[in-house]
Amino acid sequence: MAEFDLIERIRRRSQTRPDVVLGIGDDAALIAPPAGMQLVVATDTLNHGVHFPPQTHSFDIGWKALAVNLSDLAAMGAQPAWGSLSLSLPEADPDWLDGFIDGFMQLAGEHGLSLIGGDTTRGPLSVCVSVIGLIAPDQALRRDAAQPNDDVWVSGTLGDAAAALALWQQGHDIPQALRTRLDRPTPRLALGQTLAGLAHAAVDISDGLLADAGHIAEASAVAIDIELEQLPVSAALQALGVEPQTRWHWQDSGGDDYELCFTAAPALRETIRSRALACGTAVTRIGRVCAGQGITAMLSGEPVKTSRSGFEHFAAR
Ligand code: ADP
Ligand code: MG
Repeated sequence: MAEFDLIERIRRRSQTRPDVVLGIGDDAALIAPPAGMQLVVATDTLNHGVHFPPQTHSFDIGWKALAVNLSDLAAMGAQPAWGSLSLSLPEADPDWLDGFIDGFMQLAGEHGLSLIGGDTTRGPLSVCVSVIGLIAPDQALRRDAAQPNDDVWVSGTLGDAAAALALWQQGHDIPQALRTRLDRPTPRLALGQTLAGLAHAAVDISDGLLADAGHIAEASAVAIDIELEQLPVSAALQALGVEPQTRWHWQDSGGDDYELCFTAAPALRETIRSRALACGTAVTRIGRVCAGQGITAMLSGEPVKTSRSGFEHFAAR
């Protein structure tokens, strides 16, 4: 397949929103954003061998490449609108590409996102997606907006993806429920949008809870305490029957679950619970914002030492 045929295969599958004036096919795309809205822009790259195990199905790579970007929009409280896809492929394999586009477009369709452009080159497998979303002025959930005395909340459950990765690295079978959490994360868009203008600060958990909540603490110049015993755990992770220390490590440092961690005033507890229920995502209170700095993991009210660094690409090895 030639480059043109690859692009045509992608173009055929992209659906167009009415606000796309000119989509795939020209030198650049034209969009007509709604008046009065702010644009929210995010980019994330997935590299072979770094962001997914070799042998991952191309459907899952397509899904995850978009999901991690949509998760960033969710963490801002934005509504997704348009995307672009930069693909570096070792070979022009139509079956691989069709699987990839199936995964990408299934998720794009669920959230009304139009693919409006991209780039296609030959090279080591790498997928870079950019997304643009919309939000009303002053509604965005920023990292620098946490207030002392806020509750700290998390969506869904934590540690599933890290458990799947650890089992895979140790050569064990991976329960399907955990594998799905690693391969097909669910961006919490409805939750993020319902929290916009209500919660104070938010971040999506890609690199580990303590690392990502630590970004809120730093940006907001506050301290955050997290109660490890409060971390929500899935039935599948519970069923592994590992030591609590092992589980907490996956939950507080594992990352890749793409849940939202957010802070909000204690007076809003009931509102937050009912809004989260209305969008079908469980939320759990896991800690508190205080005056001070840094993030602390707590067990029974006492600080504990953890390897809290999270995943860092350029860490000394
Ligand atoms: P140019 O050489 O002018 O940059 P390209 O040949 O790279 O144009 O791309 C032609 C059109 O196809 C452009 O509209 C571009 O946005 C789109 N395109 C290229 N690769 C992809 C891709 N992987 N996904 C979506 N659109 C793509
Ligand atoms: Mg051109």
